[in-house]
Amino acid sequence: MLLAEHRESVCDYARRMVSDGLVVGTSGNLSVRKGDLVAVTPTGVDYASLRPEDIPVLRLDGSPVAGDLLPTSELPMHLAVYREAGDPDGADITAVVHTHSTHAVAVSTLVDEVPAVHYLVATIGESVRVAPYATYGTEELATNMLAALEGRRGCLLGNHGTLTYGTGLAAAYSRAQQLEWVCQVWLTARSVGSPRLLPREEIEHVVDRLRGYGQK
Ligand code: 13P
Ligand code: ZN
Repeated sequence: MLLAEHRESVCDYARRMVSDGLVVGTSGNLSVRKGDLVAVTPTGVDYASLRPEDIPVLRLDGSPVAGDLLPTSELPMHLAVYREAGDPDGADITAVVHTHSTHAVAVSTLVDEVPAVHYLVATIGESVRVAPYATYGTEELATNMLAALEGRRGCLLGNHGTLTYGTGLAAAYSRAQQLEWVCQVWLTARSVGSPRLLPREEIEHVVDRLRGYGQK
């Protein structure tokens, strides 16, 4: 089967999005790229029932290659990331994750940038922008998202959700989780007071420092 492992990990991570509470029902979507081919979640299908052979495979120009199901309605966002976004460190972008995680959506209705309440905003970049709202599945939403992604590895989509990318689904998915967590921290702190924020220079410093984070 074409892209067998990739299509299997699309199924696995789609189910994880539900069990980790990052989406409800058939919301959200994700994709992996190998060369010119993209394996992506189908639109409106219960993730529990997904089999690898169901996963649509398309070319970067959107033309279908394999799989009987229609691809996610957010294909314009996924393809725009692969075709036009640039990782700030020049890393290969091979996975995209879109969630509707609760705290991130709530924050996207309140601010234009995620407040730097914790250094882990640096997993996305020097700041995390909120893309202006546009209807789901539209080119307009993809355009707004691309502008918000400039020099960043993720963003919030106003009154809608999150979008993160990475080299591999594990990296893109982990960024979606960290982004949700930082949003939860800010809302929690804000519900009882006025959170102290970190200065921009400190976030820039941590962006640098995270390049050396983890096992060598
Ligand atoms: P799909 O089921 O088409 O992927 O749509 C879910 C979604 O999150 C739209 O923004
Ligand atoms: Zn969505």
